[in-house]
Amino acid sequence: MSIDLHTHSTYSDGVLTPADLVRRAAGRGVSLLALTDHDDTGGLAEAMQAAASAGILLVSGVEISATWNAQTIHIVGLDIHADAPQLAEGLSGIRRSRGERAGQIAAQLGAAGVPDSLEGAARHAGNSAAIGRSHFARFLVERRHVRNTSDAFSRYLGTGRCGYVAPCWPELAQAVAWIHAAGGQAVLAHPDRYRLTPRQLRSLFEAFAHNGGDAVEINSDGRFKSSAQVRLARQFGFALSSGSDFHAPGKNVADLGEVTQIPDGVPAIWQRFRATR
Ligand code: AMP
Ligand code: MN
Ligand code: MN
Ligand code: MN
Repeated sequence: MSIDLHTHSTYSDGVLTPADLVRRAAGRGVSLLALTDHDDTGGLAEAMQAAASAGILLVSGVEISATWNAQTIHIVGLDIHADAPQLAEGLSGIRRSRGERAGQIAAQLGAAGVPDSLEGAARHAGNSAAIGRSHFARFLVERRHVRNTSDAFSRYLGTGRCGYVAPCWPELAQAVAWIHAAGGQAVLAHPDRYRLTPRQLRSLFEAFAHNGGDAVEINSDGRFKSSAQVRLARQFGFALSSGSDFHAPGKNVADLGEVTQIPDGVPAIWQRFRATR
């Protein structure tokens, strides 16, 4: 039995439909699953139905793209009421700016000698309202401009590359407020994956605490050891969350249920969910 609180479906940049994702998770022994698509809650109804059939518990979630200190960070909202109006309107604004950014990315890639990328990215996006860089990355791989998606980011889509367009996300405080207005728990996603020094990481935790953040994710694929993240989380009084950030089955990436364990003695965020209380 395992708990996975961070996953993506075709409603954002995952490759499985919500129903297929839930079935795969159930088959892999996950008993409590959160679907957390980027800036979109459209997949939750389908996932909820599939979870009822599969006999597992699904938690409504979302991963909000946000800005802190002029950098992109991700805030996961868990146990949200997806139709809460402030959240729904906020997410729809983010998707609008995603649409504009996609057009600009395509224009820049065109100028760099890669034509037709908007149509190409859209073909990889199950949800044309939520086109993101992962969809452009899959198109670049398909056209053999790069060998894999990670190369697509380091050569075309990452910060400062020819296809990079500075995003226009809401501030951290705004994202937390939308999640709270929707009755949810705000979780700082994968803190070790941002390019931060230890001092900057502490200052991000401070800002998150100041804005009422509830929990931080622990993960072990970036530069800070999970033990360091746990220590810092305890200092700030955060609960912990953990998830695979599953997007697609593949080599070298976590599959559903493959999460960093939350150590004993630290509150786990799922203990605060309505459905588990
Ligand atoms: P976006 O929200 O459109 O800016 O795209 C961000 C998404 O791209 C992340 O959620 C990841 O799924 C993916 N991503 C970011 N960096 C990389 C990378 N270096 N290699 C592969 N995928 C990445
Ligand atoms: Mn993603
Ligand atoms: Mn993320
Ligand atoms: Mn994610």
